[in-house]
Amino acid sequence: MKIYDISLTLAPELPVWPGDPKIFMERLQKIEDGDAVNVTRLDFAVHAGTHVDAPVHWLAGTYGVDQLPLDALVGPVLVVELPDSVDLITADVLAQVNLPVIVERILFKTKNSALWTKPEHEFQTGFVALDESAARVLLEHGVKLIGVDYLSVAPFSNGRPTHELLLGAGVVLLEGVNLWEVPPGNYEIYCLPVKLAGADGAPARTILVER
Ligand SMILES: [Zn+2]
Repeated sequence: MKIYDISLTLAPELPVWPGDPKIFMERLQKIEDGDAVNVTRLDFAVHAGTHVDAPVHWLAGTYGVDQLPLDALVGPVLVVELPDSVDLITADVLAQVNLPVIVERILFKTKNSALWTKPEHEFQTGFVALDESAARVLLEHGVKLIGVDYLSVAPFSNGRPTHELLLGAGVVLLEGVNLWEVPPGNYEIYCLPVKLAGADGAPARTILVER
C-alpha cells in the first residue's frame, strides 16, 4: 500500500498569506536547559500550510472547522493534473478534463506544486486557482471537498466569489496541498483538521492512499 503525505511541513520559512503572521514555534521548556521535557508553543494563523477553510472564514454567522462533515474529509478522491499552460481553472478548463458525472472529492495538481520543491520561497500572488465558473461546474458534479496546491482555492486578487459559492454550498476547501510527487488518478483521502472550536480554518494533516 502506497501512502502519499501531501501535507506541507509547518516551519518558520514556509510562505504565509500576505498580512498573516509568520509561523512561529518557540521552545518554552528545554531539556538542555535543565527542564524535565521539551515543550513547544505555536503561533500562526489557521490558514498556514496545509489547512481547511470553514464556512465562517468568509460567511459571518455560519459554522467553524469543528462542525465540518467528516464524510467529506475521508473517502475516494480524484487527483486531476492540469498542464502548466493553465493559469486559471475555469469552466472551459474543466470541460477538457472529462470529469465523471459524480466527483465528491477532487484535488487539482497544477504548476503550483513545483513551488513546494522549494518550500521556503516567497509568497506567489500569481498562483493557479479556481474562478467562479469552475466552482459552479464542480457543484454540478456533487463535489464535497476541493483541494488546491497553493494557499487559496480562489485567485489572489478576487477571493470572494469562489469562496462564497463553495463555502455557502457546504463544500470543504482544502488549501496548500503538495501534489508534486503524486501521479494523477484515484486515491483515498484522509484529511483531518485540528478540532478548533468555531475556528475559520485549521491545519490538516492530509494523506492519500493508493487504491
Ligand atoms: Zn484558508
